[in-house]
Formats: sequence, structure tokens, C-alpha cells
Amino acid sequence: MLEPDFIEAVRTAVGPDGCTQAADALEEYGTDASKQHGPAELVVRPSTTDEVAAIARLCHQHRVPLTVRGGGTGYTGGAVPALGGVVLTMERFTRILEIDEVNLLAVVEPNVVTGDLQRAVEAIGLFYPPDPASLDRCALGGNIAECAGGPRAFKYGTTKRYVLGLEAVLPTGEVVRTGGKTVKNVVGYDLTQTLVGSEGTLAIITKAILRLIPLPPHRETIQATFAEVDGAVRAVIELVKARVVPAALELVDGASLEAVARYLDDRTLAPEGTGALLLLEVDGLSETVREEAVRVEASCRQAGATTVRHATDAAARDELWRVRRELSPSLKTIAGLKLNHDVVVPKARVPDLFACVARLREELALTIACFGHVGDGNIHVNIMVDPNDSAAVDRARDGEQRLFEEVVRLEGAISGEHGIGLEKRSFMHLALSAEELALMRRLKTAFDPHGILNPGKMFPDAEPATTSD
Ligand SMILES: Cc1cc2nc3c(=O)[nH]c(=O)nc-3n(C[C@H](O)[C@H](O)[C@H](O)COP(=O)(O)OP(=O)(O)OC[C@H]3O[C@@H](n4cnc5c(N)ncnc54)[C@H](O)[C@@H]3O)c2cc1C
Repeated sequence: MLEPDFIEAVRTAVGPDGCTQAADALEEYGTDASKQHGPAELVVRPSTTDEVAAIARLCHQHRVPLTVRGGGTGYTGGAVPALGGVVLTMERFTRILEIDEVNLLAVVEPNVVTGDLQRAVEAIGLFYPPDPASLDRCALGGNIAECAGGPRAFKYGTTKRYVLGLEAVLPTGEVVRTGGKTVKNVVGYDLTQTLVGSEGTLAIITKAILRLIPLPPHRETIQATFAEVDGAVRAVIELVKARVVPAALELVDGASLEAVARYLDDRTLAPEGTGALLLLEVDGLSETVREEAVRVEASCRQAGATTVRHATDAAARDELWRVRRELSPSLKTIAGLKLNHDVVVPKARVPDLFACVARLREELALTIACFGHVGDGNIHVNIMVDPNDSAAVDRARDGEQRLFEEVVRLEGAISGEHGIGLEKRSFMHLALSAEELALMRRLKTAFDPHGILNPGKMFPDAEPATTSD
């Protein structure tokens, strides 16, 4: 329960229209795409860095939990106010402050929608590659806090490769500026990259300097089908051996294809006998694109592709990508509860990962649909289960534990892009040693001595007070 003098001080800092306790707002800002809910007590909408700093100072002084929110599309409950208190939404920080064509960078406020920055820079021949599938809803601050990735990460890397500098407010209220406008900077510890992927637990990002690159002028999409997942994975290995680095390299397995075909009532999307589909994109100068497309097709054919289709113009490419775009809503038709895990293994271990998934399907009688960024070894393993069938839910929970254990054995990571948040806290001890966790705790304390910023997250012994749908 927040003290009246605290609420009054927040109101004074941000003005009466900068905060609310309306029931519908508390409900809306108490959840995110993970469908977990936390008891939000006050929603605050600051407009300036000074206001953010004032709120942080007040929360620090009064020991009030403070949870930062970007677009609210996180899949692990990162923006859910697990211990109640203040939800600080960055929704008024939506300006692209600068696009610098000479130094190849953009300066942005954190709640610029990712797709909006991409369109703005592409209009002048520049490129901001990180492309999470949520790019028309998520915000750059959330992408930085989660180190978001997407299909293009194989060639272009994830968000961290593009963050040059940050302005951030510490949970104690000080404003810090890390990195800057240069590509090289080795002055002291790299605080910029410490904040990237810190899941809103170390500081509140209020501005970012992002690296841009020239927009590749040509693009070609290739879609190949295979009778088995193994064939598709072999094609990826062949490609790597052929030294081709596609801009995107996505795999969709048979169970996921079947869901899309049923959802869209279009059997052509999952023709009889299709066990997997690869979507690849090559980009660059036209001669390079042509040459690489030929090599991609050869690798797919060598691995036993049953069909290979090419598309060069935007509409035809869009049509080939349709399957991938429709995956999220389609999976919902399989079962009401989706345990969505974005595990990642070294590329060469992807066949072992799929073997593990096949064992879990068989031994635990689970429906599991897989798709994802196979070029990075980052596969979304979706365990689909009826939430009203408690025995099935128990088997699914057993399945996720076994999945994570196997991923760690395969020298992989339990999350490649969605982060830990609330959802994977209890598995952190599988991924990190006691010494590593203790070091991370000391880092957290250095930034946030009272533990007010995004409490209940990431660490296995955090105590959230949440419910889920
Ligand atoms: C349909 C769908 C598809 C998705 N596809 C992908 C994908 O392909 N790749 C991928 O990586 N993710 C994907 N995601 C997950 C999600 O979109 C990403 O994690 C995204 O980066 C979250 O951004 P957001 O602005 O919505 O952040 P939020 O959900 O609002 O917050 C996420 C975390 O960031 C913190 N945060 C937000 N803003 C700030 C800030 N200014 N300062 C400090 N901390 C902050 C929050 O406290 C929270 O811990 C998908 C989600 C959906 C719903």
C-alpha cells in the first residue's frame, strides 16, 4: 500500500496528468505479453529525464518497487510489477531525435517503435537491422533491455551490436551517460553493454545512440520444404560450409506448419509430406544476391529439399514470409497454454536439440511446435497444453525442465532473446554457477542498493506476488 505523501510527491513531480490510479490503467499496466499479472498501484507517465530521475529518487527513498515499461510485448513478464508499486511507462518518450547520415547513427528516445525507426532510416538508404517479430509494437528501450534479436541476427547480429551509447537514470536517481557517438571507445568498463540485456533491473534507459549501416539494395527470398526436420538442418550446415551467410535463416517444423495451414484454411502452406520449411533471405548487391541465391538452392537440394521457391519483388517475398508471420496466432488454435521457450544451442547441436524435442513428445505425450532462427541455433520450442488438464500441465512442466537441462548439456543457453524475467527465474541455477549468480547479485546491489528496480525478476530467490491467466 503506497503512502499518501509518496503519491502526492509523485504527482508534484510529474503533474496530475502524469500519473493515475484508475482501475483500468492498473489492470492494463499490470501485465504484458506473458499474461502474468502483478498488483500495479500507481502508473506514472514521465515526459523528461528529470521527471524519471525524480520518480526513481522517490521510490529509492520510500523503498517503493519501480517497474519500467516499454511496449509491453515482453514474453517473460519483465514489465510486470511483480511486487506492486509504481509502473513507470516510457510511452511519452517517442521522438527520433537525430539521424546522422555521416556518422551512421540515430539518437532516439526509448519508446520509439522499432519498426518506425527502421522505416525512417530506410527512407534515406540506411538500415537498422534488429527485427524482432513484434517490431510494430515493441519499443527500442525494451529491445535494448532484452537484447532483442530476430531473423536477421544470423548475418547482422542482435540489438547489442547496434547500441553505441545510452542515457540512463539509476534507481538512486542519478543520470548517467555511457558510451557515445564513436564506434570505438575503451574508456573504463563497458557500462553500455552492461545495461544491454539487463531486463530493466539496473537502470532506466531514457535515450539511446544506435548504429546504422547502409541499406542493402537488393534482396531475394528462398523458401524450401523438406520431408523431415533433419533435412532442413542439414541444408543449414551445407550453407555454412558453402560460406553463405544469409540475412535471414528461419525454420518452421511440421507441427507449426500444420497449425498455420489449419488456421488459414490453406493446405498449400503445409503440403502432404512436409516435415519442415526453411525461409532464407540473401541481400546485398544484385550480382552477390543472385550468386548466393543459387548457392542457397544448391545446398537445399543437396540436403533433399522437396520444393524450392524464389521471390525477388516485395509482394512475392511477403507471400513467402506469410507462414512465418502467421505462426503466433496459429499456435493458439492448438491449445490454450503455450510454454514458449527461446532456447539456443551451438548450430552443430541443433539436430541434438530436435532429438530431445522428439523424445519429450514421445515420452511425455506432449504437443510441441518448433520454429525459429535456426541459423543462430535459436529455436522457439512451444509446448502446447490444455490449461484445464492438470496432468498434462504437470507433464509440460516436466518437459520444460528436461528441455533446459538438455540445452545446458548441449552448451547452449536457456534464453536466446526473450530474457529471464519471471518465467525462467527458477531455472537460472541450471544455467549459471553459484559464483556467477553471486557476482550478478553484487552488480545489482551496486546499481540498486535497496533493490527497488524491477524486483522479483531474474534472480531465482526473488519473491514475486503475481498471478497468470
Ligand atoms: C508476437 C511477438 C513476437 C515477438 N518476437 C520476438 C522476436 O522475434 N525476438 C525477440 O527478441 N523478442 C520477441 N518478442 C518479445 C518482445 O517483443 C521483446 O522482448 C521486446 O524487446 C520487448 O520490448 P517492449 O518494448 O515491448 O518491452 P517491455 O515488454 O515493455 O519490457 C521488457 C523489459 O524491458 C524493460 N524495459 C523496457 N523499457 C525500458 C527502458 N526504457 N529502460 C530500462 N528497461 C526497460 C522492462 O522493465 C522489461 O523488463 C516477441 C513478442 C511478441 C508478443
